[in-house]
Amino acid sequence: MSETVTASESKDRSQQTQKRMIADHFEQLSRAKENGKKVVYTFVPGNVTELLGALDLLPVLPEINALQSGMRKKSAGYIAEAEKAGHSEDVCTYVKCDVGMLKSGNIGPTGTKLPPPDLLLLSYTGCFTFMKWFEILKQEYNCPVVMLHVPYQTEGHITPEMRDYVTAQLERDVIPALEKVAGKKLDRDALAHRMQLSAQAEEDLVAVWESARHRPAPIDGYFGGVYYVGPIFSSFRGSEDAVRYYRELREEVEQRVREGRGPMTPDGEMKEEKYRLVVEGPPNWTSFNDFWRMFSREGATVVSSTYTRVGGLYDRGFRHDYRRPLDSLADYCLGCYTNLGLPTRLDLLERYIRDYQADGFLINSVKSCNSFSVGQLLMLRKLEERTGVPGGFIESDLVDPRYFGKANIENRIQSFLQMLEARKRGGSSQPLPARTEGKRVLPVIKEGVMP
Ligand code: SF4
Repeated sequence: MSETVTASESKDRSQQTQKRMIADHFEQLSRAKENGKKVVYTFVPGNVTELLGALDLLPVLPEINALQSGMRKKSAGYIAEAEKAGHSEDVCTYVKCDVGMLKSGNIGPTGTKLPPPDLLLLSYTGCFTFMKWFEILKQEYNCPVVMLHVPYQTEGHITPEMRDYVTAQLERDVIPALEKVAGKKLDRDALAHRMQLSAQAEEDLVAVWESARHRPAPIDGYFGGVYYVGPIFSSFRGSEDAVRYYRELREEVEQRVREGRGPMTPDGEMKEEKYRLVVEGPPNWTSFNDFWRMFSREGATVVSSTYTRVGGLYDRGFRHDYRRPLDSLADYCLGCYTNLGLPTRLDLLERYIRDYQADGFLINSVKSCNSFSVGQLLMLRKLEERTGVPGGFIESDLVDPRYFGKANIENRIQSFLQMLEARKRGGSSQPLPARTEGKRVLPVIKEGVMP
């Protein structure tokens, strides 16, 4: 691709590519039944999109639909619908949003109706809610379910037994179930080809993440990052489209680095990078741009985040490998962020704080996601001890607007950034101490901000 293309033109190109990909996909879904296409609902963490693609099956990701409903201000109504039907206030709001959407006609993010599933592929990667969610959908749709049980990574590494256990399920349960729905045998060469395409896109995505080591960071690795992971976390991994998208994205980001430009924000390009942050936890979707502005208007860039790794930790070196497709799919599922124990999550956050030279880190603890929020206060203290970098703690929710207290959250974030500023002026912005030798240097913001 030509290097003479300006950054803004290049940016438009990748955005347009993603927009077209999404529109095409939902168009295909809306016509799936009349075109004889089969549809598989599955989850983002532990998805085996290459397998689905190799069998011409169309994926639907309920979490993506839920977050899109949040961004489109539809989730409050859907959640109310689900609560009316008896789902407790404590249930993950993604689930209630999905159930409410289903009961309201199942209209997807692009305004077209989503087809019912021919199969529910339950990839279980660390979150018990996944099981309950698909139990509910099975009742609603009365369709078959196949489960891929992925053992939790308690010790922080994948053993051969764990890999074999997952691979055996793929061979014995998942592939036959998918073949039955597809009405044909899996073409293993087509699968291998898709794995090669996945690895290419993953390579470019990692380059995009790594670009945030520059000062100023050319991307926001959280608010901007959720757009970047859209294709690879959803229906497009293993496709030529995904390869094209990530190549275009990488080129435009590299162009920004060459030009010394900061990230785009809801208000245009950030002019001055004052604070570099690492964020743990998912974002709030119902007030996404307001939330983003609380950072960007103060000159705070999120240089890295764990949420953008929920569908794969490629920057730890994992790539889909066409030479060992099923083992590689097993490793992918085992390595998703939701499947990692607290010590591994802590190590990862510590690495991000150090590698990206963060001034601070912030935890957004979302009310409805136990998988993310469990242990986060402990993580806060441990991270401060290990790095000497101050942490902040706020609370909100994924798609339930009742739990986004804008004024409170904004106050908390501003106080946190002022603390970072005072720390810089006080000259305590020293190199990070060696691991576990640091100590907390400033008070922690830890009270919740539930409205
Ligand atoms: S609890 Fe968290 S990880 Fe589990 S389904 Fe809900 S949002 Fe996803």
